[in-house]
Amino acid sequence: MKTTHGAEMNQRPWSGELASFQRAFIARVTESLDGAERVWVGPIDGCADCPTRDADGELLDEGRFSWSSCDTCGSEFGGSRYAVHVWVSGMSGSGGSWEHLDVCTDCLCYLANGTLPDTDAESGLTVREIESVLLEAERLGADRGHAAATWAYDGNTPEEWYRITLQGIEDGDPAVYDSMSPAGLSGEWSGDPTDRDLARELGLEWSDTRNAHILDEAATRYLEAESEAFWSHIESVCRRALDDDGRAPTHMRVYE
Ligand SMILES: [Zn+2]
Ligand SMILES: [Zn+2]
Repeated sequence: MKTTHGAEMNQRPWSGELASFQRAFIARVTESLDGAERVWVGPIDGCADCPTRDADGELLDEGRFSWSSCDTCGSEFGGSRYAVHVWVSGMSGSGGSWEHLDVCTDCLCYLANGTLPDTDAESGLTVREIESVLLEAERLGADRGHAAATWAYDGNTPEEWYRITLQGIEDGDPAVYDSMSPAGLSGEWSGDPTDRDLARELGLEWSDTRNAHILDEAATRYLEAESEAFWSHIESVCRRALDDDGRAPTHMRVYE
């Protein structure tokens, strides 16, 4: 085997972005290898912790099953462990030694080839499944944000409201942003959705803690999409209402 350390990343072909569990995986492996000058993937002759030799005297480098956590990513799921070694320099830069690590299959693939795990060990979801959950959360958020915006005005809304609202949006005035908002996920009012409702809509068990990090991310995406859709609709409605009167909204000073 060759010595590699975090070579090319295996990126998602459709977006080029990594899933959050993949970024977390890289961060954990990188942190545990901090300070290592070289990484050797495979057994080393003479290492007391390495697998024993077979009948022909060859070093065995196939995995050994273990329940102990992986030395690089920290995974506590039982599974195959493989020998990896890191070169640690001695004090004052003189000499050094190989330190033996037992790593999981995900880490072996990453360190040897730069490929990232495709399945989130915690939730059991693949990168694609997680992506579709997050996209669905965004879609739901955007739909509700847009719907909520259409309830903020009607045919009797005075022109003044459109002017003040648009000016507030352009100025980033908190008075306008505090005056209305989409429902979010707080369930503050009866009928408003909650985190638990979102989980059900996304087909994930809310009470299963293994899904918690996915649901957190989905809620964040939902709220961002909801807010974005809400305010962009309000803004476009204001511009339309004012433009119909032949005014130039961007130059108006409501508070003068
Ligand atoms: Zn070893
Ligand atoms: Zn690992």
